[in-house]
Amino acid sequence: MNQRPTGYVVGLIGTGVGPSLTPALHMAEGRAHGLDYVYRTLDLDALNVAPTRVGEILDWARTLGYNAVNVTHPCKQIVLPHLDRIDPVAAAIGAVNTVLFTADGLVGHNTDTTGFASGFVEGLPDAALDHVVLVGAGGAGTAVADALLRLGAGHLTVVDVDIDKATALVAGLAQRHPLAHIDASSFDKLSVLLPAADGVVHATPMGMAEHPGIAFDPALLHPHLWVADIVYRPLDTALLQAARAAGCRTLDGGHMAVYQAVDAFALITGITPDAARMSRHFRRLVANPS
Ligand code: NAD
Repeated sequence: MNQRPTGYVVGLIGTGVGPSLTPALHMAEGRAHGLDYVYRTLDLDALNVAPTRVGEILDWARTLGYNAVNVTHPCKQIVLPHLDRIDPVAAAIGAVNTVLFTADGLVGHNTDTTGFASGFVEGLPDAALDHVVLVGAGGAGTAVADALLRLGAGHLTVVDVDIDKATALVAGLAQRHPLAHIDASSFDKLSVLLPAADGVVHATPMGMAEHPGIAFDPALLHPHLWVADIVYRPLDTALLQAARAAGCRTLDGGHMAVYQAVDAFALITGITPDAARMSRHFRRLVANPS
């Protein structure tokens, strides 16, 4: 019988990852399962290594006995050619945030998209998905869009200040979800789209501590619209405050952030973590990061 390892070494590769909450989240959950679980940031800025050398970092990590790494900005796509196998969901999206070092080689997964889906189901159960508007067609928006379509969104409209990004995302989505009704729309059409939509997911940096504000006019919010924000620093964004004031059901970005870690932990260890415990820990960390 195969014995599960009791010791794990995991890394987070990306630029500016020093303040990430993910290491603390994984290590506390590992300890709770009696594991010797070490999770360290591998900050490319601090290491003075160009992101294009991500393949070398993977080689080193494997050589040094790492079990897995999370991969974040700006490496989620440039890591792909260095992998031996990519999970179909991650391959479809064309981005990976978790790499397992297995006996059969390097295997990539995308727990941003599975994490958004799980967090959505938990936090907004029974939310209507007939027409959903996604604001923000960047890396995170792509993971969210795929998750919404896997959850059964009937009609997905993608909006971005950069219409070319919205159009490109829709073209990719249409290829992998040929039966879905997906379209791109210009930002100024939100005044027509939101009054008729069931829900909106916000996936731009607006609302983060360093980008304060709301990406679109909050006067467009109405009580029949659910509002999901994926920004999680802070958790209670200006958008969510406006949405509650307008009578909307809301979902904060902590759900996606926690479930991407829940899913990564499960992939790395084979152990189902306690998602509620990780969520409580995450919310304490966001409130008091030091
Ligand atoms: P990105 O830079 O790849 O994409 C952001 C997109 O938003 C771009 O396409 C940009 O054109 C668009 N945009 C910017 N301002 C806009 C506006 N006012 N209106 C409409 N579109 C606008 O960034 P990303 O990696 O996709 O991340 C976006 C945000 O998502 C991050 O800032 C972070 O807060 C959040 N995020 C959360 C999680 C989570 O787990 N909860 C995970 C990843 C990212």
